[in-house]
Amino acid sequence: MRRFFHACLIAASSLLSLLAAARAADPLELEWAKLADGVWAGVRPVSLSAPPTSSTLIVIGDTGVFVFDPAGTPLAGERVLAKIRSLTERPVTHIAISNWRGAHSRGADKIVEAFPDAQIIAHEFTARAIENAENTFAQRGDKPKTASNNRFEKALAGGEAAATTRAYFEEELAHRDLVEREIGASRPVEPTRIFSDALSIDVGGRKIELRHMGPGKSHGDIIAYLPKERILATGDIVVSPTPFGANCHPKGWVRVLEQLKTLPADKIVPGHGAIMTDTDYFDLLIGAINFASDEVARAVRKGMSLEETKEAMDWSEMEPRFTGGDPLLAIAFNDRFKTPIVEAAYKIANGEDSEPLELAGR
Ligand SMILES: [Zn+2]
Repeated sequence: MRRFFHACLIAASSLLSLLAAARAADPLELEWAKLADGVWAGVRPVSLSAPPTSSTLIVIGDTGVFVFDPAGTPLAGERVLAKIRSLTERPVTHIAISNWRGAHSRGADKIVEAFPDAQIIAHEFTARAIENAENTFAQRGDKPKTASNNRFEKALAGGEAAATTRAYFEEELAHRDLVEREIGASRPVEPTRIFSDALSIDVGGRKIELRHMGPGKSHGDIIAYLPKERILATGDIVVSPTPFGANCHPKGWVRVLEQLKTLPADKIVPGHGAIMTDTDYFDLLIGAINFASDEVARAVRKGMSLEETKEAMDWSEMEPRFTGGDPLLAIAFNDRFKTPIVEAAYKIANGEDSEPLELAGR
């Protein structure tokens, strides 16, 4: 734990330089890492800027190419495709989608245009969510400036933002047009191969195990595991440096993380964030999820409202373990984890579903 906390501090202190480096590129640029012969991951080590593109994993076999998450927007998908073409002439035969959110499901259209025979693989819930009539992919581009962009403008105008926060807000605003364009151009691709528990993919000399381990971050999370190469890609079950909590299933999420810890893995590709080499962060995450779940259950037993519950939660010990005191990571931790996990846990404690299908696509 201490080792991880230390790593967090380092991550936070280097955030400003990472953001400065990112300024030269656009937010859809991925950093590529070779994990084994024929196995590549594309990640954004500090995945804060919009749109939240996901990590991607490419596995090249003798007969074809497997892709886990096509990175999130048309341009990101094109870049994944370009990377594949720079590595091999073999066709993309399989694209697996770790969950329904756009950062994971979008971008597939660009790969499918080039390889129309590629199977699109997803868990049955993810497939239903992508096909759902309530799915708002197509409309998202019509949205004017987002509320968060307005918030960024306000914070910059007010001059109250700390250095890292200011750099991030400026980054977001600088790329707003690109982001709007990308989201507007995004098209969902419906899954063609659907499974519920486990699926084994062979791309010729390479085996990829796809597994759904129960409701966790989503009802339909799947992970990709390469047993021989000891490589694991988690989707949003693991996101760092601060996790995502929207519409999660806290108790199940902890069970999924405990199962993932039993898979021997030397390289772990989270849904967003830097590649990991051990599961220390999983323990940190389990602690935070259990904390939120237990505290919310206690508040609900006392008859507290959602707002009262949010007020009563004391994150002062938990939060610095993720943020190292960095004000920008504190915003991410608050917006993407604290608030949504409390809302999800509150619904569950009141007998409601934290991830109804009609939410999907939003
Ligand atoms: Zn994600």
